[in-house]
Amino acid sequence: MIDQLYRKAVLTVSGQKPVESLVRSRGWGVAQRFVAGEDATSAIRAVQDLHKDGILGNLDLLGEFVTSPDTANEFAAKVLGLLNDAHAAGLKPYVSVKLSSIGQGMTTPEGEDLGLSNARRIVARAKGYGGFVCLDMEDHPRVDVTLAQFRTLVGEFGHEHVGTVLQSYLYRSEGDWADLQDLKPNLRIVKGAYLEPETVAMPDKADVDAAYRRLVYAQMKAGSYVNVATHDEGIIADVEHFALAHGIAREAFEFQMLYGIRRDLQKDLAARGYRVRAYIPYGRDWYPYFSRRIAERPANVMFVLRGMLRG
Ligand SMILES: Cc1cc2nc3c(=O)[nH]c(=O)nc-3n(C[C@H](O)[C@H](O)[C@H](O)COP(=O)(O)OP(=O)(O)OC[C@H]3O[C@@H](n4cnc5c(N)ncnc54)[C@H](O)[C@@H]3O)c2cc1C
Repeated sequence: MIDQLYRKAVLTVSGQKPVESLVRSRGWGVAQRFVAGEDATSAIRAVQDLHKDGILGNLDLLGEFVTSPDTANEFAAKVLGLLNDAHAAGLKPYVSVKLSSIGQGMTTPEGEDLGLSNARRIVARAKGYGGFVCLDMEDHPRVDVTLAQFRTLVGEFGHEHVGTVLQSYLYRSEGDWADLQDLKPNLRIVKGAYLEPETVAMPDKADVDAAYRRLVYAQMKAGSYVNVATHDEGIIADVEHFALAHGIAREAFEFQMLYGIRRDLQKDLAARGYRVRAYIPYGRDWYPYFSRRIAERPANVMFVLRGMLRG
């Protein structure tokens, strides 16, 4: 409950325009702990650097909730460019995309959802390079449409090239998991990072953690690929035990963590033979992502304040 109140306070304050302007103008130095750089070259360099420790990368061009079709199309073009750059650098591109950044909710001249239409181009390009696209999950009003678009894309490209995310804090997620089973979906399981009302999201961390374990275990037992995206050492240890006890092969799942958070744990798991992937955000629109990271941990507020006062 305290975690929830803290998160609510930080996300509410960070949503105020004067706070945003201040942090945007003075916070880039501290944001770089969580953001790999402003351009694709820096992000690709970060992936190559992680490879030295046996860690894989998941590239994310930052941006969300765009308000015009032109901006959405420009954003999609940048993601397509990122796929080209990653391929040219010898990587099998693995990217994450927020459908709100590429036009979800807007309509193409042909009458299709623009987010779906752009996602189709992105997944097709990734598939051509042997790569993968994960559709990030955003705030709860977007869940239905994101899952419906995920279903369409899996039908067109296969679950080897497109996945999505379920958030354990949402009451609905276990039902969504069951509904997706005919797809053998590739799923990333997260706790959830948005400011959500108690009518849709569990306020108590213990419930969120318990639902998290249930979702991961169900996905493992169903024999579908699962991306265990958390820095929670208790959950990670339990997942390791569960996999051992149920004969789940190490190729059937991976651990995912965020760039700049618990690199020690990422290295340790990779050294012990687990597949580990770091989510590497980059780009100029870093503020909303950065705010969510600060909201996850009280110590991060002090880190930001100290960094901004120094800078
Ligand atoms: C790869 C990846 C992809 C994600 N994609 C999505 C998505 O699509 N949609 C979505 O809603 N959420 C997403 N998230 C965020 C997620 O929902 C959580 O907000 C975030 O992972 C923090 O929760 P936790 O599972 O690490 O557990 P927590 O219980 O919050 O944290 C466990 C421990 O991890 C460490 N930790 C956690 N966060 C931080 C931080 N910011 N700074 C420093 N230490 C920290 C602390 O030591 C903490 O005690 C993603 C997370 C990851 C790792």
